[in-house]
Amino acid sequence: MRHRKYILDPSDLQYKLVRLHWKQKLLRTFLWFAASLVVSVFYLTLFENSFGSPKERKLSEDIEKMKLQYSLLDRRYENAFKTMDYLKLSDEERFRPILNMDSLPESFRKPGYGGVDRYRDLEGLSNSSLIISTHQKLDNLNNMANVQEESFKTINEKSIEQKTEMDHMPWMSPVNPKYGLGDRFGFRQIHPVLGTPRMHWGQDFTVPYGTNIYATGDGTVIESGWNSGGFGNCIVVDHGYGLQTTYGHLSEIRVAKGTNVKRGDLIGISGSTGLSNGPHLHYQIEKFGQHVNPIYYFNRDLTNEQFNEMIQAFASKSKFR
Ligand SMILES: [Zn+2]
Repeated sequence: MRHRKYILDPSDLQYKLVRLHWKQKLLRTFLWFAASLVVSVFYLTLFENSFGSPKERKLSEDIEKMKLQYSLLDRRYENAFKTMDYLKLSDEERFRPILNMDSLPESFRKPGYGGVDRYRDLEGLSNSSLIISTHQKLDNLNNMANVQEESFKTINEKSIEQKTEMDHMPWMSPVNPKYGLGDRFGFRQIHPVLGTPRMHWGQDFTVPYGTNIYATGDGTVIESGWNSGGFGNCIVVDHGYGLQTTYGHLSEIRVAKGTNVKRGDLIGISGSTGLSNGPHLHYQIEKFGQHVNPIYYFNRDLTNEQFNEMIQAFASKSKFR
């Protein structure tokens, strides 16, 4: 409602309506408008100071989101570090001791970046410490992974080396252990054929004619044929690592000189050739030129079936060799 102003006229004691001049009206309107503007600006400034401009609010929202992303990343790093620790533990506590390898010096596992301040460009930003620590974690993780990869490569090489060595060791009975043992390694008063005292450098197996004779470890046949020293039809396998095995008195030889054999390969058939008074296998092992007792190189705990299964397993493996 329009606010009207009246004034008392002393000449006739009547109230008269005050009429403003147009200039006064304009001035009033202007003043009113100016005052409104001042009040609006005041409140707007106050609001922005308290809550920020829309642009600033968006920016601070983005920063909050980024912080959240970084903290999620942090949790994923922790999981990756746990995995790396597990691999390191397996490396140090399991693989290296089994393979008789020295543990990796701790200095190998520590990152060395040659004194360069890698994170200089990241300094001076808001949230610098968060960003730098995330970068440091990534660098550490990267370093751990590289060291672990190198270590596993060495372990792998060593295990292949050792497996090869194990495969070459004559750790098997040359015949099924269901057959009995004959003359042992050592001095014997009377040689069965010569009838005189003589050293027996091997282990005999009491096997009938026609029994399968197997290579007891991987190696190369270095002798295959008649042995004039008394072993008759004889095979000698060189296993490397200073080890040789000899199989004597055979009725048949199944491998030629120079053949590479694998453990469990059928190399001959038993007989009684050479200085022998009945079918048996003479088996001897030399280590760096010295005769050793073969009894320590095989176990006779296997049953007939277990031994045959083992031979079959070797044979099936040999298809892929
Ligand atoms: Zn013998």
